[in-house]
Amino acid sequence: MATALVHEMPRTLRLLEQGILSEWRATILVRETACLTREDRTALDFLLCADPSTLEGFGDQAVCAKVRAAAARIDAEAVVRRARKAVSDRRVTSRPAPDTMAYVSALLPVAQGVAVHATLARDADSILAAGDARTRSQIMADLLVSRITGSSTAAEQPAITVNLVISDQALLGGGCEPAYVQGYGPIPAALARQWVSEAASAESEPGASLRRVYANPQSGALTATESKARCFPTGLARLIDLRDKTCRTPWCDAPIRHHDHIKSRQAGGPTTAHNGAGLCAACNYAKQGVGWNASAHQPPGKAHEIEIRTPTGHRYRTTAPPLPRPLPIDGTEVTSPLERLLIHYLHAA
Ligand SMILES: [Zn+2]
Repeated sequence: MATALVHEMPRTLRLLEQGILSEWRATILVRETACLTREDRTALDFLLCADPSTLEGFGDQAVCAKVRAAAARIDAEAVVRRARKAVSDRRVTSRPAPDTMAYVSALLPVAQGVAVHATLARDADSILAAGDARTRSQIMADLLVSRITGSSTAAEQPAITVNLVISDQALLGGGCEPAYVQGYGPIPAALARQWVSEAASAESEPGASLRRVYANPQSGALTATESKARCFPTGLARLIDLRDKTCRTPWCDAPIRHHDHIKSRQAGGPTTAHNGAGLCAACNYAKQGVGWNASAHQPPGKAHEIEIRTPTGHRYRTTAPPLPRPLPIDGTEVTSPLERLLIHYLHAA
C-alpha cells in the first residue's frame, strides 16, 4: 500500500496527508485499484482525488462503489479476471479474539455467503419464536457450531482433539502460568484447568488424555527425542509442533504445515527434533531455493535456535518460544482436587 500510494497514486497520498482522506478510505482506493495497470491506476487517482470535493459527503461504502465503478469502466477485463480468481481464493480461517474467544471467518462467493447467513438467521428466528431464552445472535452462533461439529450445543465440546500445553504446576498446583492451545495461542491457566476437568468428566469417550512433554525448568526448552526415519514420524512431528507453535521463519506467523529438515537429507541431515523445524508451506518452498542456508543450534538447557542465511547474505536467528515452566523437582506438595483424577488418567495410560 505504501509503495502504491507514493509511486502510483500521488493525489490520494496528498489528500491523506492533508487529513481529507482517512487511512481506511485511502486503503479502499488502493485495494480496489490493485487489479489495474500502473497507468490506469494513476488515471483513476487523478479522476477521484485531483479535486478534494469529488469524494466529499460519500460514506465508505459509497467510496468503495465509486472506485469499483471507475475501475470497471477503465479496464473491465481486469475486473472480470479478478472476480474469477477471487472465487478460487475461498477459504475458512480462524484467529484469536479478546477474552479467549475466536473469530472463524469464511471467505465465500457472495451467493453462498449470503445463503449461509440467511439460513442461520431464518432458523434462529423460528427457534426464537418458539420461546428460546437465548438471543438471536447466540442462537445463530450455536446453530453454526452444531451443524459443523455435530454436537448439539455450542457449550458441548466437539468430538475432535484440542491440543493444550500446560505446566504441571499450573495444572496440579493451582499455578497461574498461561497454557497454550495449538492453533489459538495462550489462554489463562484457570480456563485450561476447567477445560481439562470438563473433558475428564465428560460421559463421551475419549474425554481428556494426558501426554507428558518434558521441558527444561530454567529455560522452558523442549527435550528432544530421536528417530531414524526420513519422514518425521507422528510423535516427533507433534514434538516439533509443540516446540515451534507457528512457522519458525522470523516475522512469519503462519500455522505449521511442513516438518522440514533444517540440514537437508541430501546433505546428511538426521531426522531429529534438533534438525527439524516447523514451517509453513511457503517458507519451506522458499528455503529450497538457491542461496538459502539454515543451521540448527541448541546450547545445553537453552531453547532451540535456527540460523537462516538468505541469498543476499543476511543472517537471521529464530528461537523456539519457551514452554510453560515445569514444577521444580523439589516441588511443593500438590493438593489440587484435580490431582486424583489426573493420576487416574496417568495410570490408565
Ligand atoms: Zn512461514
